[in-house]
Amino acid sequence: MIVRKSAAELEKMRRSGLLVWEILGKLASMIEAGVTTLDLEVVAERMIRDAGAKPAFKGYYSAAVGARFGFVLCTSVNEEIVHGMPSAKRALRKGDIISIDTGVQLDGYFGDSAVTIPVGEISPEAKRLLDVTRESLELAIDQVRPGKRLFDVCGAVERCVVSNGFSVVREFVGHGIGTQLHEEPQVPNYVDRRNENPRLKEGMVLAIEPMVNAGKPDSRVLADKWTAVTRDGSYSAHFEHCVAVTPNGPWVLTRP
Ligand code: MG
Ligand code: MG
Repeated sequence: MIVRKSAAELEKMRRSGLLVWEILGKLASMIEAGVTTLDLEVVAERMIRDAGAKPAFKGYYSAAVGARFGFVLCTSVNEEIVHGMPSAKRALRKGDIISIDTGVQLDGYFGDSAVTIPVGEISPEAKRLLDVTRESLELAIDQVRPGKRLFDVCGAVERCVVSNGFSVVREFVGHGIGTQLHEEPQVPNYVDRRNENPRLKEGMVLAIEPMVNAGKPDSRVLADKWTAVTRDGSYSAHFEHCVAVTPNGPWVLTRP
């Protein structure tokens, strides 16, 4: 069942969304060669606690993994797609790209967003990967309107990515969001005709999160049981926003 949110609930989701936006902005300003992914984690956790919020990821139980995630951030560098874990041993280097994904729960409601940020100067191909992934998210956001269908959102990402010669990851998907971090429906970054294709209605909120590989779509999970990487070692980018369906069109809750 897809839970629709009232105007008052959307206002609460807006507050958690803006907290996530503030955190990601702060972390983006810290990105430079030599910074470790644990440095980012420490700052993010302090901001979450100071705001009176709870981290959405730290302590999150994954049935697939059979364990709880240990950090407030997922930090996924270069060929890492998602679910990378912050570490004092992982210092960023010029030319890297880092996906930072975080979520919070504030007053019962979740916000969840991700950005991929270049570390200093990056290759033209890596830059194009970031640009296309960001563009695919914007095109998908524009589909979040009453009367559109889920496949319009999924297809917008897929078309943009494929027409630019990149590939979408299939093993990980976006999701509905609200009082749960992951609600129905699943929001794949491709049209999966085995799934239902519900009509979008006012009050639905989707976390849309294209995960795009520069090379082939295939992924595998490292021995740490969490970190997903591209099988071919190509770079992967990830952007995410939470978007509410309103009569006036898409309302991106995770940016001003
Ligand atoms: Mg996320
Ligand atoms: Mg998400």
